[in-house]
Amino acid sequence: MTQNNDLFWTRILELAQDRLKQATYEYFLSDARLIKIENQVAFIHLEPRKQNFWENNLNDIILTAGFEIFDTEISANYSFEEEPIRPITTSQRIPEQDTKPIANTVISPNNLNKKYRFENFIEGEGNRWTITGAMAAAEDPGTTYNPLFIWGGPGLGKTHLLNAIGNRVLENNPYSRIEYITTENFLNEFTTHIRLGTMEELKEKFRSLDVLLIDDVQFLSRKAVTQEEFFNTFNALYDNNKQIVLTSDRPPDEIDDLEERLVSRFSWGLTTDITPPDFETRVAILTSKIQEYPYTFPQTTIEYLANQFNSNVRDLEGALKNINLIASIKNIDTITVEVAAEAIRSKKISKVSKTVIPIEEIQEQVSQFYNISIKDIKSGKRQKDIALPRQIAMYLAREMTDNSLPKIGKAFGRDHSTVLHSFNKIRELIAQDESLRIEIDAIKNKIS
Ligand code: ADP
Ligand code: MG
Repeated sequence: MTQNNDLFWTRILELAQDRLKQATYEYFLSDARLIKIENQVAFIHLEPRKQNFWENNLNDIILTAGFEIFDTEISANYSFEEEPIRPITTSQRIPEQDTKPIANTVISPNNLNKKYRFENFIEGEGNRWTITGAMAAAEDPGTTYNPLFIWGGPGLGKTHLLNAIGNRVLENNPYSRIEYITTENFLNEFTTHIRLGTMEELKEKFRSLDVLLIDDVQFLSRKAVTQEEFFNTFNALYDNNKQIVLTSDRPPDEIDDLEERLVSRFSWGLTTDITPPDFETRVAILTSKIQEYPYTFPQTTIEYLANQFNSNVRDLEGALKNINLIASIKNIDTITVEVAAEAIRSKKISKVSKTVIPIEEIQEQVSQFYNISIKDIKSGKRQKDIALPRQIAMYLAREMTDNSLPKIGKAFGRDHSTVLHSFNKIRELIAQDESLRIEIDAIKNKIS
């Protein structure tokens, strides 16, 4: 049983690592512990403020791992005592370290990820200006570019740069007070402190910072109530010449429901974007990342890989991890194109979850495929070469994610009945039209 508990926990960590951004993973999972499993309930020890995240984001992973390992439904019970009961999972057989693939020590109290540095960030056409801005903000916090607003698609290095800024500031001045925080956690902290009536404490904490690094502020959009608090924190820091750096997957004026005054504040300093790396940069990134692996990568393999993933560096890294796994299992020294191809295939198959695909990703892939803009996809235009892709995107959003109809509708500026109508229509079309089905399968392949 204990051994199965180990497997169960390891599987949860694996699935979560696949799904979450690294900093998120480290923050929410690295100090979580499985205490025991009793009557199909897994007792998991957490910091209290992490419970919400687990409940909202990891339930299906716990279910999946439960079915895989125990062939039954396992639910979670979270506990928060200061001193965790000594976990049986990590006891005798596996040293504790093994259940934490990423060592705790990487993350310091300010939540900075020490691995993300300017030194290991590869420069290319698509990120040159952003790197320049980020370095300026790091060398001279609170003066040159304040706030610095970095935006760009997933996996292009926003979180990396944000941490690199923090790490550089600390190098220059070890006494700087820095906090890296995701917008999600920022909002959670606010909610928790409001509930506990300890808001002053929290305000104090943020206002005493020299540098505030906030990741993924597009998530502010849905939380109108907390925008006020955010605004106040922002002003308090800004007025005291403290550096604020924000990242987002889109520019300030495209964040839904973001109050005008915040949009304008965000644009006071420097707004800069990162675009996907070109082929040469992808080759350079790969060449740098493979140094960590004990295998020989012929140039043809590197170029092959660089051609497989053209819009997301995280995917490139994922491919390398998989290659590493396959090469170690098969005891291979040289990574041929065949080995790389196999690793990529198995990666695609092992992707599990439904809920994690963002609707924007679907919109992006569909618009790329049909060579129209995301704006068109969300527009009211009725001509067929835009309306059909839009319906396909809605169809895929319904089929590939667990989002509700109204939520999907909102992402397209439509109501739920339009989504349902589109879904039914495309389903019927696919049944009759083989070539459309193949097209949609191809798009799906790119998404999942
Ligand atoms: P984002 O926050 O934009 O989604 P991340 O910062 O999490 O992206 O980057 C995803 C992964 O890709 C990270 O491991 C990061 O180190 C790596 N990465 C992205 N761009 C580069 C780059 N130009 N050079 C080196 N590594 C990069
Ligand atoms: Mg990020």
